Amino acid sequence: MPTIMTHAIVPLAIAVAAGPARISSKLALAGAGLAMLPDADVVGFAIGIEYADQWGHRGATHAIAFALMVAAAVALLWRDARSVGAFAFLALAMASHGLLDAFTSGGLGPALLWPVTDTRFFAPITPIRVSPIGADFFSARGVVTLVSELTLVWLPCLALAATGWLIRRRHHARIA
Ligand SMILES: [Zn+2]
Repeated sequence: MPTIMTHAIVPLAIAVAAGPARISSKLALAGAGLAMLPDADVVGFAIGIEYADQWGHRGATHAIAFALMVAAAVALLWRDARSVGAFAFLALAMASHGLLDAFTSGGLGPALLWPVTDTRFFAPITPIRVSPIGADFFSARGVVTLVSELTLVWLPCLALAATGWLIRRRHHARIA
């Protein structure tokens, strides 16, 4: 996995780019939460679920279908998530986790197409260094991971957020 904060930054950047009129701050935070959620599957290690299992790390919780189901469940429970835009944002936020994981250089790939297939997928290029699981994070490998995430995820996200913000500002200036 990229580190957990890096997953959260993707929906937050989309929210900043789209602006608070389209994606409220509450919705943005919910998206950040959903983007981090799939890695809760690591608890499976503690109860004996193998990495490669359907419900193992990067298994079903990292699938696009799972993201759609969770976004639908949130929409059922939460009025703010009951629009096409909000649903799409939340589903995309959660699905972005597995997609990002597919670009990492280690472990098993995410089961993006579960339940159709349990196959673990990697992108054709895997430039993001995989994050060490657990305490190893504070090691030389952890630093290499962080640097690769900063350049390959945080920078593009920042660029997206800044571009969206600038476009919105210019638009506002024009109609003011
Ligand atoms: Zn993950």
